[in-house]
Amino acid sequence: MNAVNASGWRPALGDAGEAKIPTSSGDYGLMLEEALSFELGAPDKCGVDMENFDRAPAAGLQKFLRQSAPALPGLTEPETVRHYTRLSRQNYAIDLGPFPLGSCTMKHNPRLNEKMARLPGFADVHPLQPQKTVEGALEVIEQLAHWLVTLTGMASVAMSPKAGAHGELCGLLCIRAALDARGETRDVVLVPESAHGTNPATAAFAGFKVETIPATPAGRVDIEALKAKLGPNIAGVMITNPNTCGLFEPEMKAIGDAVHAAGGYVYCDGANFNAIVGKVRPGDLGVDAMHINLHKTFSTPHGGGGPGSGPVVLSDALAPFAPLPFVTRGADGHLHLVEEENADEGHGRAFGRMVAFHGQMGMFTRALTYILSHGADGLRQVSEDAVLNANYVLRSCEDMLPAPFAASGPCMHEALFSDAGLADGFSTLDIAKGLIDEGFHPMTVYFPLVVKGAMLVEPTETESKAGLDRFIASLRSLAERAKAGDQSLHSAPHYAPRRRLDETLAARKPVLVWQGGAGVPATPSLSEIGGS
Ligand SMILES: *Cc1c(COP(=O)(O)O)cnc(C)c1O
Repeated sequence: MNAVNASGWRPALGDAGEAKIPTSSGDYGLMLEEALSFELGAPDKCGVDMENFDRAPAAGLQKFLRQSAPALPGLTEPETVRHYTRLSRQNYAIDLGPFPLGSCTMKHNPRLNEKMARLPGFADVHPLQPQKTVEGALEVIEQLAHWLVTLTGMASVAMSPKAGAHGELCGLLCIRAALDARGETRDVVLVPESAHGTNPATAAFAGFKVETIPATPAGRVDIEALKAKLGPNIAGVMITNPNTCGLFEPEMKAIGDAVHAAGGYVYCDGANFNAIVGKVRPGDLGVDAMHINLHKTFSTPHGGGGPGSGPVVLSDALAPFAPLPFVTRGADGHLHLVEEENADEGHGRAFGRMVAFHGQMGMFTRALTYILSHGADGLRQVSEDAVLNANYVLRSCEDMLPAPFAASGPCMHEALFSDAGLADGFSTLDIAKGLIDEGFHPMTVYFPLVVKGAMLVEPTETESKAGLDRFIASLRSLAERAKAGDQSLHSAPHYAPRRRLDETLAARKPVLVWQGGAGVPATPSLSEIGGS
C-alpha cells in the first residue's frame, strides 16, 4: 500500500505514526484495494460460455480473421461486477454528500430531468434523421433557447457549444467575425487577474493577445486600470460576473459603456449565472456575449470532463455572426434547422460551426425540464437560496478562517476563505485533505489566484441547513486543528483508499495506459482459448 503504484501515485506515510496495521488481505474494513482488471483476470476465464468456433468464415471474410486474440482481461461476470462496484465505492459523488467545489456548481440533479432525457424520442434521436421526424426535439431546443434569451435579456443564442470553455471560444469567434466585418484588426483581449483560467486560455486560443487587469482591494475589477488600457487595439474584455471571488461586479454597466465607447465588445463569463438567474439580466448590463453552463446553473450531472453544454447568448451586435446550425420556425409554422448561411433567415454572416451537429440533446432536455419544473419564480428562488447558503457558510466560519472580502458585504453564491493565520507550516492543503477524512469532498483550493491559499466554497441551494451545519462544524474543527498545529492533519487523509498523492507527478506525469507487469498473463493465443 505504501509503494508507488501503477499510476505513479505515492501514498505517503504520515509523520504522526499512524501507519495502518497490515491486514492479510491488504484491505481495511470495507475499504478495498483494487487491482486493474488486467491484473485480476486470467486468459482462460470469460464472462460467457462460448461454443468453440471451428467453422470457416464466410467467403470473402477470411482476410478479416483475427490472427491473435484481443488483449482483453479474462474475467467472469461476478468478478467484473465486483471490480466496477468496488471502484465506484472509491469515488465521491454528489449523490453521496455535499460537493462544495467553488465555481463548479455541484448541486443535486433532479431525477425528473433524467426521466425526461431518457424518453426514447429524445434519447434515441440521431442528428442525421429527417428533420420532420424530430420536430419534438427541435421544439425542446427552441423552447430552451427562448428561456435562455429571456432570462438573460439578450437578442439571440447559439445553442451548439459543448461546454463553458467551448462557449467562450464561440463568443470570441463572434467578436472576431464582427471586427472582421468592420475591417478592424483589434488583437488584444483584457482579462481580470481573478478570471477563471479558461478565459485567458480561450482568448489566446482564438488568436488574441491577453492583457491582465488588476483587482481592487475589494476583490473587484479595477475599472480605472481597465479604462487606462482601452484603445484602438482592444477587441474586448472578458469579465466573470459574479466573479471568481464570489462577488458581484457592481460596475459592470460602467465597464460595458467604457468598452463600447472604445469600440470593443464585452464578453461575460456566465458560468456563475446560478447566483443571479431571475434577479439580473446580463443584457441590461451591456454584455455582448455570455456562455451559460447548462450543466451548472440548470443542473446536469457533470465532472470528470463531461458531458457539458455551453450555449452562448448574444447581443444585437454579435447575433448575425453566430455559428450554424440554428433552429428556426418557418412560414409554415414548422421548426427546421438552418444548416447553411442564409441571409433570408437572418443567418447570412455565420462565422462557421462549433460542432458538427446541434449540440447536446440530453443536456437540452434536462435543462428545459429543470427550467419548466421551477418556473421563473422558482429560478429566482434558486439563486436566492444559493446566495443565502453561501453567506451562511461565510458568516459561520469567518471567525475561524479569514474571509478576505467579507468586510465589503455579503458574498454571492460562494464563500471565499484564506489560510492566513494557521500555525506555521499549515496551509489550505491540510484543510482540504482533512475534509476528506470528515467525509466531504474538498472545496476548490488555491483559486482564485488573487487570494493566498484560497478556499472557495460553493454550497449551492440544494444543501439543507442541517447538511450545511455538519460541513461548517467540520471546517471549523479543521481550522482549529490547523491553528493548534495538530501534526496529524499533515498526513490526512487517513481514511481514504489513497493518502497524500504526489500532486505534481499525478498532474504532470499521469500513467493512463496499462503497460503490463510482473505476474500478468501474456495475451493468450487463439488456440489457447479454443478459437480458430
Ligand atoms: C466552470 C467554469 C468555466 C468552464 O466551464 P466548462 O464547462 O468546464 O468548460 C468557465 N468559467 C467559470 C467561472 C467556471 O466556473
